[in-house]
Amino acid sequence: MLHIPKNIVFMRFFRNNLIGIKNYINMLKKITEKAKTTHNLNKDEITELLNSDGELLYKSANEVRKQYKGDFVHLRALIEFTNICKNDCFYCGLRCSNKKIERYRLNDNEIINCVKLAVNAGFKTVVLQGGEDIYFNTDKICSLIRQIKKYDIALTLSIGERSRDEYKAFKEAGADRYLMRIETTDKELYKKLHPNMSFENRLACLYYLKESGFETGTGCLVGLPNQSVESLANDILFFKELNADMIGIGPFIPHPQTPLKDENKDNFDMALKVMATVRLLMPDINIPATTAMESIRENGRIIALNSGANVVMPNMTDTQYRSKYELYPNKICINDSPDKCINCIKAKIISAGRTVSLSKGFRFDKE
Ligand code: SAH
Ligand code: SF4
Repeated sequence: MLHIPKNIVFMRFFRNNLIGIKNYINMLKKITEKAKTTHNLNKDEITELLNSDGELLYKSANEVRKQYKGDFVHLRALIEFTNICKNDCFYCGLRCSNKKIERYRLNDNEIINCVKLAVNAGFKTVVLQGGEDIYFNTDKICSLIRQIKKYDIALTLSIGERSRDEYKAFKEAGADRYLMRIETTDKELYKKLHPNMSFENRLACLYYLKESGFETGTGCLVGLPNQSVESLANDILFFKELNADMIGIGPFIPHPQTPLKDENKDNFDMALKVMATVRLLMPDINIPATTAMESIRENGRIIALNSGANVVMPNMTDTQYRSKYELYPNKICINDSPDKCINCIKAKIISAGRTVSLSKGFRFDKE
């Protein structure tokens, strides 16, 4: 047998790996370049990006964001108006089986006071978000919409699944946008995590929203148990197929009062990679730097703004209710006042070299 000295074996191993690494880097560069120029990738290419270390991806997403959306950051005032929910989503602290939270529901006056605070602080959009609380029927929501729209601001609703007719009624009453994440496009996983809910209905709702004329936002949770990278790639392809106007990506954070309490992976990096890939493939949409990102990483929202995001949603909910809207634990700002949140986030945005937008921030607005 031919004897090859050990150092030569090592050299060959080193050289082969070096070629391997070089090829790999070239492949990533090629995929990223294709994404930047065509805004189209197939599932395998997306999976490669999600499996990468993210460096090139974040940089490219930031460039695409700057090219298509400029340096403006849109602020949306988030009002968490009810934590009562009929659903039992496995990951969420507001699920109806969680008997350990104190439930609340704001009355019209309290909601309008939050709106006034947001308007006075210069916000051009408010987001009414809550659990699926049947107390707020069509008439109640439409009446709220009409009261809020008197303030010449854009209004986003995020109140889950309703009927096609209800969505139409909300749009006719004046609501502009609607946020409802698909959460995961993996049907089996969806079924396991959402007892008594149907994937097909959630999907249908998203299409009803689009047909009713809403700017429609969706998104997914990243890091759910048994969620594969391929399944996240499918989520991204779905966002594109729906032609969503906004995409919110949240790292899944385990809540102690839920069946998923022991899932303790750090999902920040993967969530950031999913978000950055969405920016490459959907260059002109609005993408928030999500609160959940900042809740698990210091300066998470600024990191997200530098990796493709162009929206931030500061919390305008009155301090006394904030801690009760516990979708996940360690949510930021739960002891802060709305004033403090506004000033803090504005300062952060400016120090990151970005500008707070003064427009309503629709998808196709110039500013
Ligand atoms: N009830 C409405 C809106 C409120 S929930 C709805 O479900 O659409 C808003 C979002 O919170 C959900 O879409 C979900 O993605 C997110 N969320 C819930 N539990 C979470 C958790 N444990 N970690 C991270 N995000 C969570
Ligand atoms: Fe309710 Fe939304 Fe939480 Fe599901 S995610 S339990 S629908 S608040």
